[in-house]
Amino acid sequence: MDLFEYQARDVFEKHGVPVLGGIVATTAEEARAAAERLGGGTVVVKAQVKTGGRGKAGGVKLAHSPEEAAERAGEILGMDIKGHTVHRVMIAEGAKIAEEYYFSVLLDRSERRYLAMASVEGGVEIEQLAVERPEALAKVAVDPQVGIDAAKAAEIVAEAGFAEDVAGQVADVIQKLWTVYAEEDATLVEVNPLVRTEDGTVIALDGKVTLDANADFRHPDHAELEDAEAADPLEAKAKQHDLNYVKLDGSVGIIGNGAGLVMSTLDVVAYAGEAHGGVKPANFLDIGGGASAEVMAAGLDVILGDPQVKAVFVNVFGGITACDAVANGIVKALEMLGDHATKPLVVRLDGNNVAEGRAILREAGHPLVTLADTMDGGADTAAALAHAADTAA
Ligand code: GDP
Ligand code: MN
Repeated sequence: MDLFEYQARDVFEKHGVPVLGGIVATTAEEARAAAERLGGGTVVVKAQVKTGGRGKAGGVKLAHSPEEAAERAGEILGMDIKGHTVHRVMIAEGAKIAEEYYFSVLLDRSERRYLAMASVEGGVEIEQLAVERPEALAKVAVDPQVGIDAAKAAEIVAEAGFAEDVAGQVADVIQKLWTVYAEEDATLVEVNPLVRTEDGTVIALDGKVTLDANADFRHPDHAELEDAEAADPLEAKAKQHDLNYVKLDGSVGIIGNGAGLVMSTLDVVAYAGEAHGGVKPANFLDIGGGASAEVMAAGLDVILGDPQVKAVFVNVFGGITACDAVANGIVKALEMLGDHATKPLVVRLDGNNVAEGRAILREAGHPLVTLADTMDGGADTAAALAHAADTAA
């Protein structure tokens, strides 16, 4: 989960990283009040969207009075930045910047360790710096067993070539940012810019934090950082039922059990779709091991709720949950959904008790259900049905 900048600021503050005051606002009026609470002086009005380059896009503006803060907030709220609508701004205390630096620490999956990056040429887009002047971006490996201790921080600061008068301060801030990374179970902590102000203090002026969802169980407090508004309603519904659901762009809804089977079903459907006007999978939905009627109903409900879905392919391999139980689940799910079930369903069952499972579906004779003998055949039928519905519409 990516945090908004104002959330990253709060987390930084909690761990003693030097930041400036910042208050989130959703209206121009709130922005004015926030600027007043920050002392009525110069503030920066910053769009809160989970994408970089806000500055360039006009989403970061200085304001010299609470009135001006309200005006700038009015301009920035509702703006579109790279496809993200601005619903919130942060009113931040203004800084007198002397120099802009860069620092990040992230998970380096391929090397199975962490990687710290730092530069005395921050502020700019770091991807650009990495390409144009790679020598200006220090990259230092971090041993997960050790983390960034004083020695590692000193190494990073030296590699990046920080001037003597700030090196100590920067090393100290880097260690605190490491505390954020380790204690919050982050996979990315990035500060761009880390600044030296005119009076010589080092401050994290912009923060990007990605938290590792696998560690959520250790952080009950992280739940409130979730952006409920932005969550896709179907993804939220799937999450409620502990279903692994990912929305894709195509028109063939897919339900399977087990990530491996679902993934290969995606491939097979995409391949079959080439012969049917190029239709593609509409989603990834893994109902897991226990394909009970409730789970199947929840899964179908999620998929049928996606208007892009034109046909559904249910591809289940009976294991611990046998095919007859799955078939009963599908029949009951269709009963439970009633009029909500409106799209053709191709079902391929295999594995434990497959004959019983197929018999149950045949006997039920639901008009929307087509039985498939093989995975390839089922994918082809589902793709054909989706294409037919697409061209009829
Ligand atoms: P980003 O463009 O989305 O990365 O947003 P940033 O928060 O990094 O802001 C972009 C730029 O705005 C920074 O690199 C600074 O140059 C400038 N900026 C941000 N906050 C302040 C501030 O308090 N004072 C001044 N003078 N400039 C700021
Ligand atoms: Mn930035």
